Amino acid sequence: MSWLSNIPPGIKNIFNRKDDDSDALWTKCNGCGEMIFQRDLDAAQQVCPSCDHHLAIAPEERLKLIFDNGAYEELELPEPVTDPLKFRDEKRYTDRLKENRRKTGQQDAMRAAYGTIDGAGVVAMIQNFKFMGGSMGMALGEAMIKAAEEAVARKAPLIVFAASGGARMQEGILSLMQMPRTTIAVQMVKEAGLPYIVVLTNPTTGGVTASYAMLGDVNLAEPGALIGFAGPRVIEQTIREKLPEGFQRAEFLEEKGMVDLVVRRADMKETLSRLIRVLIKERRQAAAPVATTPAKLEKPAKTVTLEKPKKTVSKTRPKLDKAAE
Ligand SMILES: [Zn+2]
Repeated sequence: MSWLSNIPPGIKNIFNRKDDDSDALWTKCNGCGEMIFQRDLDAAQQVCPSCDHHLAIAPEERLKLIFDNGAYEELELPEPVTDPLKFRDEKRYTDRLKENRRKTGQQDAMRAAYGTIDGAGVVAMIQNFKFMGGSMGMALGEAMIKAAEEAVARKAPLIVFAASGGARMQEGILSLMQMPRTTIAVQMVKEAGLPYIVVLTNPTTGGVTASYAMLGDVNLAEPGALIGFAGPRVIEQTIREKLPEGFQRAEFLEEKGMVDLVVRRADMKETLSRLIRVLIKERRQAAAPVATTPAKLEKPAKTVTLEKPKKTVSKTRPKLDKAAE
């Protein structure tokens, strides 16, 4: 037994503040290793002023950044049954939940809020990596469904800021069932003709990448974010090949077409605003003829007209080809 074990717990806690970095004066940048004054980092939206590395950002701060005047309404999320498997590893799952709830002030990993982006109503979901690695359990599935229903009811786009290590192992197969459940939630939004946008933040991996995080009409990513299913070491061991430089990083995936656009945090609100405007306009135009057809659809004879335009197209085509020659 070392002399350290004799120190009263109250004093020990002062030095043992690994989790609570909220009131630290300095933060070390994981990108360049430089020490940054916390106040400067806060002013720069948690982006390193020297190397542009995007550090983790608190959910409240993220919501304030994207919503007009930093104002939003937090959505109340359903609470599923806690620990149905009575799971225990080194700690009881219930204890782990309690500890994470205390640490983050959240009930589970996902939060949902409603607010406006340049005047357009939006439902936004934020996954907090600090809550058990942003893992996907039943609570997250419930949250996704609730947020999707809310988006449909309010005719608002749904935006998800993903950050996760994957499925929550403490819930076994029940966590894996959230993959189809969240996919159905996304489908609800899409069927209502509303945009669904994903912002992949560092890191987004496992079952989350394999479900709702890759289903966006548009998939955005923050610079340098690690995005993948299995980790690079597992892949290297499986395929017995060295992986290319920057593999599973946002920029690499953008180059390969897995990610549509890498967006800096400072440009996020503007990009989202532009996307929402374009997508809503596009859908309105696409929906317009559908809205007028139901009455006509009742008369079966009308289907004939669909064949006619084809003929006119075939007539004009040879002319066009000749003109081109
Ligand atoms: Zn840096």
